[in-house]
Amino acid sequence: MYQLINTLADLTSLRDRDALDIALVTAIQDVLQPESAAIYRMVGDADNERWLTSAQINGGTVMPVSEPGLDALPRLNTAPLRQQACTSQQPTQSSEAPWTTAFPLLGASGCRGVLEIHTAQALSEESCRVANGVLRLYVNFQSLLDYGERDALTELLNRKTFDGAFLKATVKQKRRVDALAENRNAETPAGNYWLAMIDIDHFKRVNDTFGHLIGDEVLLLLARLMRACFRHHDQLYRFGGEEFVALMRCESEIDAHGVLERLRDSTERHLFSQVGHITISIGFSEVMTGDSPSGAIERADKALYYAKGNGRNQVRSFAALVAAGDLTGQAAPTGEVELF
Ligand code: GH3
Ligand code: MG
Ligand code: MG
Repeated sequence: MYQLINTLADLTSLRDRDALDIALVTAIQDVLQPESAAIYRMVGDADNERWLTSAQINGGTVMPVSEPGLDALPRLNTAPLRQQACTSQQPTQSSEAPWTTAFPLLGASGCRGVLEIHTAQALSEESCRVANGVLRLYVNFQSLLDYGERDALTELLNRKTFDGAFLKATVKQKRRVDALAENRNAETPAGNYWLAMIDIDHFKRVNDTFGHLIGDEVLLLLARLMRACFRHHDQLYRFGGEEFVALMRCESEIDAHGVLERLRDSTERHLFSQVGHITISIGFSEVMTGDSPSGAIERADKALYYAKGNGRNQVRSFAALVAAGDLTGQAAPTGEVELF
């Protein structure tokens, strides 16, 4: 009992989602002693959904998880038991050995993943109840975190969480650069990080013509278009008003430009009820080793400002503008302090 309370106290002391997932599988290991336990999340578009492993414990050892591209992940139908747990929204157990039990992770928007446990024997009813109790605590705690970290209107991340995520991205980027230098390609996630600032064109007119409520609906619908255009590992923020930020991973500037152009194009073509058509302008810049959040934002913002001043409804790269002589400014990160 004391161990269980301790485990739960550890779980609720965390603010980092990855660490929280590891704490959940560790808690399950502590209380049920399974052979292995893992959390699988559903990622990707509705017609191409896959399982992403977000935490795994095997024989008491927490395993590292990799972040391959979407197409390298297993499809949903490769794990029918997990699918069944999600559809029924009930814990689901295999009918014979090897014993596997899948618990749905239920949130406000339905089932978005499962906790899967492998045991030597079928899981007893009592063990199922204990696992369910720990899971409820985890899910409740996650929605509390969501409440503090997400924008209420669009459910995108809010600005408060950006600096932490950005610093995490720069650490991952440095690891990738180091691994590539040492020829450890297989361990590195694909692509560098890019930061994009997205701003609705002439949004004031939308508010002035149709009112704030309709304006809010446009913000909500644009957030949906953004979610559909970006990939599962990209992080999307509402920075305030009608300004959005994407922190995304792409192999090259051409790829990053392509993703953003797809968003610009699908926004321009979307028919917003009552308002009709709107456009957006986007500025973006690569995140560099030693970058600071404000340095990267400033570069993307300069590119956005250029787009606004040169016709709007366009995607502009900071590096390309500097190379063409259209923008001056530091292409180098501003986060590094050189003393002499
Ligand atoms: P530009 O193309 O230069 O970006 O023009 P703009 O009109 O979009 O830019 P500006 O910054 O002048 O105006 C932004 C407007 O966004 C002002 C305000 O009415 C509106 N706005 C800010 N926050 C919200 C919000 O939460 N809801 C709604 N409906 N409107 C908002
Ligand atoms: Mg605007
Ligand atoms: Mg603005």
